Amino acid sequence: MANRRSFIKQSIVVGAAALFPFKLTKGITDQPNASDFNTFQSGPLVVSTWKHGLAANEAAMKVLKSGGTALDAVEQGVWVPEADPEVNSVGLGGLPDAEGNVTLDACIMAPDGNAGSVAYLQHILHPVSVARRVMEKTPHLILAGEGALKFALDNGFEKVNLLTEYSKAEWKKWKASGARYAPTANWENHDTIGLLAIGTAGEIAGACTTSGMAFKHPGRVGDSPIIGAGLFVDNKVGAATATGEGEAVLKTLGTFLIVEFMRNGMHPQQACEAAIQRLTESVRIHDNMQVGYLAVNKAGDIGAFSLRKGFQFAVFQNGENTLIDATYLLEWK
Ligand code: ASP
Repeated sequence: MANRRSFIKQSIVVGAAALFPFKLTKGITDQPNASDFNTFQSGPLVVSTWKHGLAANEAAMKVLKSGGTALDAVEQGVWVPEADPEVNSVGLGGLPDAEGNVTLDACIMAPDGNAGSVAYLQHILHPVSVARRVMEKTPHLILAGEGALKFALDNGFEKVNLLTEYSKAEWKKWKASGARYAPTANWENHDTIGLLAIGTAGEIAGACTTSGMAFKHPGRVGDSPIIGAGLFVDNKVGAATATGEGEAVLKTLGTFLIVEFMRNGMHPQQACEAAIQRLTESVRIHDNMQVGYLAVNKAGDIGAFSLRKGFQFAVFQNGENTLIDATYLLEWK
């Protein structure tokens, strides 16, 4: 513990009294920081979490290039992993809960500060679009479970089977292994997609969608559908999204915190690092914990940082769509 603490101190200079000068964490890995990719001049920008973000970025950028809004772009961008059966942590093909049911969390947030969300939704291919419908057609923010499903069906969404043969087999394997209840984030399958876009008019929107932790307790809701946890957008300041252990993100309202840090003058990279630092101060960090944050500010600067090695994010900017390894605080034990 003492070692970890001192490592954190060396790595990040944050904390109430020492916000500036801020030292970026280049020393932690040889990888460049996200802030090295800040060549934003003008025009649209799309960033998203994990490798599956590359295909999502393509779809989102296509929307922006053809004159669509940032809100349309984030929705249509995340449709790609939601519909991809090979992505086992989002939508169709997502690994199920402990009882074999695929349950989805998603949210969307618009440049005008409006937002919609669904939690513990089953049987719907595009939960992000149900979230958007909640935002646009109801006075509510979150619909959950059976009520969310009823709302979706009433609004013309089709009921589908989201459990693929692969995910079912993985669940059976998990059960056969003694089914010790120990839900894990789906690292090897690349996790939640959070996607942030800046449109041609400079407006910012975001979306976040996931099947949550593999084999989780039935009824469990993570950070992804909670505004300020899995996603937060403030069109005047910037936006942030989260992936990893939702409970940890929720306890520190990570993305709200990042946007507030940016509002107070931090670069998105500093803000993501400071939010991870906050996590280490506020939450018990266990050996399997991972949390990754990704953020943009109004100027199109980008930041990303994770608790542990392995978080990747995709940036589509100036005609190029690139997958980048995020810098991180701790090595896995
Ligand atoms: N944040 C998601 C959750 O806790 C999981 C993930 O990103 O892997 O549901």
